[in-house]
Amino acid sequence: MTTARPTVLLVDDEKANLRLLSDFLRQDTGIILAQNGNQAVEKAVAMQPDLILLDIMMPGMDGFDTLRTLKSIPSTSDIPIIFITGLDNPEKEQEGLRLGAQDYIHKPFNIDVVKARIATQLEIVRQRRALQQLSRDLSRASEAKSRFLANMSHEIRTPLTSIIGYAEALLADEFKGEEKQAIKAISISGKHLLTLLNDVLDLSKIEAGKMEIELLPVNLLELIEEVRTLVEDSARKKQLVFAVSISETLPRHIYTDPVRLKQILVNLLSNAIKFTKQGKVTLDVGIESEQLFFKISDTGLGIDKKRQAELFAPFTQGDSTITREFGGTGLGLSISAQLANKLSGQISLESELGIGSCFTLTIQAKLCEIPSMEEEKPDQQSKLRGKILLAEDSNESRQLLTRMLQSQGLDVRAVENGQQLMEAAMAEEFDLIFTDINMPVMDGLQALKLLRAVGVETPVVALTANVMSEDIQMYMDAGFSEHLSKPIDRLKFARLLQQHLPDISEQNELAMPNDEMRQLMSQFVSGLPAHLQAIKLAYQQNNLSQLEQLAHKLRGTAALFQFKQISEMARQLEHHMPIEKLPLALQDLSFEVEKLIANTDSLSID
Ligand code: ADP
Repeated sequence: MTTARPTVLLVDDEKANLRLLSDFLRQDTGIILAQNGNQAVEKAVAMQPDLILLDIMMPGMDGFDTLRTLKSIPSTSDIPIIFITGLDNPEKEQEGLRLGAQDYIHKPFNIDVVKARIATQLEIVRQRRALQQLSRDLSRASEAKSRFLANMSHEIRTPLTSIIGYAEALLADEFKGEEKQAIKAISISGKHLLTLLNDVLDLSKIEAGKMEIELLPVNLLELIEEVRTLVEDSARKKQLVFAVSISETLPRHIYTDPVRLKQILVNLLSNAIKFTKQGKVTLDVGIESEQLFFKISDTGLGIDKKRQAELFAPFTQGDSTITREFGGTGLGLSISAQLANKLSGQISLESELGIGSCFTLTIQAKLCEIPSMEEEKPDQQSKLRGKILLAEDSNESRQLLTRMLQSQGLDVRAVENGQQLMEAAMAEEFDLIFTDINMPVMDGLQALKLLRAVGVETPVVALTANVMSEDIQMYMDAGFSEHLSKPIDRLKFARLLQQHLPDISEQNELAMPNDEMRQLMSQFVSGLPAHLQAIKLAYQQNNLSQLEQLAHKLRGTAALFQFKQISEMARQLEHHMPIEKLPLALQDLSFEVEKLIANTDSLSID
């Protein structure tokens, strides 16, 4: 309509009126004529005029009925209608307007008024169409952006998978001290990078209203520790004091979305560190009237009262000097506030310019009775028995996965694409199949379909970097037994193997005679004081990596012998957290060990 001449449909049973009006209007508009209601509807549907001038008094279908019909047809419902009437009846006029007419023109016409009213309606139509077009363009651009973000994140996830996976595999090896710290740093940074990548995806998901929350049992202390590891280095680099204080009454496990909770905390803490030049940043965690609170305080720049509310809107930052000095995108607080909402919580802010800020995240404490999966994890990995077929086209990923499977004691046959997978599965019998989805020659989905078609019923696990829930649903619908996303969550991986394959270490344990077990147990208990001494020494020498290794060893062995209390204390020491509580924790452990030694005679293995 911006370029073409607008068209007007004139509807009147009097030919003379039609002629008169069309003579006046022809110069500026295209004209379509109709002599009754039925014709008007037919022509409106077929020719989509920009405006309809509609007589009211017509034989058969009158103007009101015609208007009702036009409004009920989707393709004509938006066409503006002006009634032409010889009546002077305000009530009827009101009814016509209520039914959706835009305007009235009274006979006899004053042609200048008629032209002005028509021009007004046509201008409104033009503007509405321009807005509709703009809205279509914007949503197309937004869709393209979301697709681009999803594709990019997919492409980056794949190599990142290898980096994190290898770091994790190396961590399981015999590395010690500084080397172990370096590998840990690769693993932690890789995971953080992955989280950032996911943030970019989040933004597009939030914008599209597609953000999903996954509630899981979460060990709060471990989550806070991970957050600390991610941010403490940047605080140290700025020579800021960084302290974490955790209330004694904090529940150990809650149901929440750990990724999102961590994301909010890391964001708030990173901001606190970023905008603080000297002094300290603290994280206080506690519970108050069934609400968990995470208070992030800093002694930084502070935020002007007038600007505080705005900062939670996307792309809002402090003044331009702040942006120049500190960088950033202005997205963090907006994403965090929306995520807090999703976790049934909120973020509040108290801040004073020049003094500092305190952001408080409150979320509902959905307590979780069952122990988190993390604690079910056996410290000494159980060995499994089984034959695995693995299809993965990337060399590094194939080797890594093979190694991970072999480290579980499994017999692995690794192939490079779906066709080789088919050939292998038909030639030999396997207990479990893992397959990548995107592979050359034949992809994982096709391979699965063919396997089922030839009657191979072995469970097949989809391995993929696609994490969109629609994709996962599509794999499950296609008949995959499970989905494992890259980077591989080792815990989920181990649980999945345990579900599908027999655990031979459990059988060994069951087969072990009681007196042999008792002897091993008392050996362990009598070695405890020396072990404890070594831990204390590491602490005195401030050798935290040594302390960590010793505590880790104690944690695993104690768990194996069912000394849960000691294992838990060792776990806390292993994460040396919070550091100021270490002396007290060591004392507690000494008491516990003494108690155990005193009761050694009554040890029971049942
Ligand atoms: P970014 O940090 O990427 O700019 P955010 O949405 O996380 O985006 O923060 C928006 C703005 O809020 C920041 O640019 C800064 O001006 C202000 N801000 C956030 N946290 C703090 C803080 N702890 N102290 C002072 N200003 C802050």
